Amino acid sequence: MAEAPQEEGGPVRFMKQHIALDYKVHVSPLAARFGEQLRGGQIVGSRCPRCGLVYVPTRAFCPMCTVAMGERDEAPLPDRGTVTSFTILTPIQYHGQKEREDYALASILIDGADGTVGQQRLSDIPLDKIRMGMRVEAVWAPEDERAGDPGDRGYGFGNALRGWRPTGEPDVAADEFAEHVL
Ligand SMILES: [Zn+2]
Repeated sequence: MAEAPQEEGGPVRFMKQHIALDYKVHVSPLAARFGEQLRGGQIVGSRCPRCGLVYVPTRAFCPMCTVAMGERDEAPLPDRGTVTSFTILTPIQYHGQKEREDYALASILIDGADGTVGQQRLSDIPLDKIRMGMRVEAVWAPEDERAGDPGDRGYGFGNALRGWRPTGEPDVAADEFAEHVL
């Protein structure tokens, strides 16, 4: 058992304990379909029939218009986009940590989408060369490895994508993506 700090500013103690947690994730039909399309190598968004905003991953309704969206509103998107923000992480070496080196996670604005997808791994570039506005393309996992959770939970790309790498195209100016960062 960890002991509470004895007083404010006092020593903090850590507990070492292995625990096991079993999860059962119930996937919505919408998220399952999104995952299925990712397995096939296609990123899909939802285009609101009223305001035209494109959400990725797909959504059941537009939160701006409260209009329901379905398969007819699906918008296939390219696997290219722009880095709108990023973070360099230094992994703490806790038990089970697989990361050894610093790495970068970014928010990507996929071409044709109006909002970013967060927590996307960047590769094939030194960390100090990463910048906002950089053009990137998806690095897909081999098809037979896109099993289990390729985005099935509906908030990312699961194991379908390994990450994103620079395309070499010219950077996009900040004012071109500033309104689509969130
Ligand atoms: Zn809308």
